[in-house]
Order: sequence, then structure tokens, then C-alpha cells
Amino acid sequence: MMPQQMPQMPRLLTQNCLQAFLNSFDTVLTDCDGVLWSGDVTIGQANEAVKKLQSLGKKVFYVTNNSTKSRDEYVTKCERLGFVAEKEEIVSSSFVMAQYLKQQGFNKKVYVVGTSGMTSELDNVGIAHTDIGPEPLTTNAFKLPEIMKLDPEVGAVAVGFDPDFSFPKIMRAASYLENPECLFIATNTDERFPVSNSNLVFPGTGSFVRSVETVAERPPVIMGKPSDKMFTVISEKYQLKPSRTLMIGDRCNTDILFGKNCGLHTLVVLTGVTKKEDLESWTKSADEEKHRLLADYYLPQLGDLVDLLKTLE
Ligand SMILES: [Mg+2]
Repeated sequence: MMPQQMPQMPRLLTQNCLQAFLNSFDTVLTDCDGVLWSGDVTIGQANEAVKKLQSLGKKVFYVTNNSTKSRDEYVTKCERLGFVAEKEEIVSSSFVMAQYLKQQGFNKKVYVVGTSGMTSELDNVGIAHTDIGPEPLTTNAFKLPEIMKLDPEVGAVAVGFDPDFSFPKIMRAASYLENPECLFIATNTDERFPVSNSNLVFPGTGSFVRSVETVAERPPVIMGKPSDKMFTVISEKYQLKPSRTLMIGDRCNTDILFGKNCGLHTLVVLTGVTKKEDLESWTKSADEEKHRLLADYYLPQLGDLVDLLKTLE
């Protein structure tokens, strides 16, 4: 048997390794919630840290699995929280879905289980879609097979976050997917939405995707992290090199795994989902899947970069 490489605890980013770290990338992909902000509040000096990276000539993309907002809404949010962002620098799972369909030459209609965050991106690339909004159960469910009509134009089912998710929608989605030619796309599979100051659990997109997947009896093509689609869509457009790109995230099973899947450098910050204890336990784990979650570097918070970078001046 080949000797196994020992898993390494991510290296704390300090003055000693800062220059080598900065020299290793030209492009930064950063996750948003848990790295830059928490809900509607900027995390520490994260905005100053991003501005610093931009002033050093690093191209920053804001990469989010969240499918509910359009890119214009993200630009507005970035500005409100003190980040500098152009629309082209926002990479959401809805945007990637629209780009993916466009790259496939898709010319039929999309049945959307989701919100305007998805339909506005489809509109941007001129792809037809069904209307969004509630489709409640108004009759005995067992009568639906007699009355539900399917749209013959539909050639893809796209599932994202949908607060109006319902029995008729699952049935409609699965019925379209009976046709093996019908594409099945999921914006992401995040289990939960982060909610602060509450002991309630807020279901994430993955819960809707899994219900449709179960009845359709086939898996979707997933746009969000850790799938590599978010990188392939923008790397093609901006000629990005994986070896010159850094991924920053707070959640290792999406952000860091995405970085690893795409061959990027990785930095985990401890202001969101991942805790230092997780990194320590994954380092000691015998499970190789856990080793894939170990980033190259870690920082307690992204804003720590601001003081670190001052040491270079
Ligand atoms: Mg996050």
C-alpha cells in the first residue's frame, strides 16, 4: 500500500506566510454569508479586508449558493454593507443555472420551483419559464391525476428555494421529469438557511430538491457549491486559472470542498459554520472524506487581514 499523506491542520495565516499567500493568487472567490456578513450585518472589518485585496489588484467574485436574490439585489446589499461590487462579480446559483442552460443551447421552457431570483436570471438570458408563486392544493390530492395539465413546451425543471413549495408542485415537477429528455437542475442542496436569534430551523433548498429527486427517481445537476459548475461558468468567461485562484469560505462541506473540487487555493474563516474544533477533529479523523474539508489556511475572521496587511506597508 502507498503511504498515506498525513492530513494537515490548515495553517493559521500570519505575517510569516502572508507574502507567499498573496503571491499565490490573482483572483478571489468569496462566499458571502458567514464570511462577509451575517444576515444583514457586516462581520467585523470584512469589507475593509475585501477592499484591501481589491486595492492590491486582486479580482474579487462574490460567490453564493443563495438562489433567492437577483444579482442587482446583491450589488445593492454589498454597497449597503460597505463592499464594492459590480454585477459581473456576483456569482449566485441562479445566475449559474441560467448560464448553464444557455451554454447547453437550451431552447425550451423551464418549469421553475423557486422565486424571482431564478426567473430574473432566466429573463436575462432570454430563456422562457413558467410563472412562480403559490400553487396550493385546492382539491383532494387523489383527484389531481385527472385534472392537472402539463405544459408541452417544458424541457427542464429547475428547483431552488421556494417558500410556496407544495404537493401539486412536486407532482408537476416529477411528471415533467418522467420524460428522460427533460433536464433536472437544482440551484443548491444546502440543508438549512442560517437564522440568528432563533431556536427554530429554517428549511433550505436541499429539502425541496430532495423531495422532487425522491419522487422523480433521478438526481439533479447541481449548480451550487460544492459542485464545480460555479467555477466552470465564470472561468470560461474570465479565463481564470485554478492555480491562481483563492476560495474563501466559512463552511467546509460546501465552500472548501468546492475549492478542492476545482483545484483552487483555500482559506476558511471561523465566523460562520466551521469552528476550530472541527478543523482539529477532521485532522485527526481516519475518514479521508474529512481530510478533503481541510483548507490550506485559516483565519479567525476575514477582517484580520486588514491588520496583517498593514505589516507589509
Ligand atoms: Mg457561508
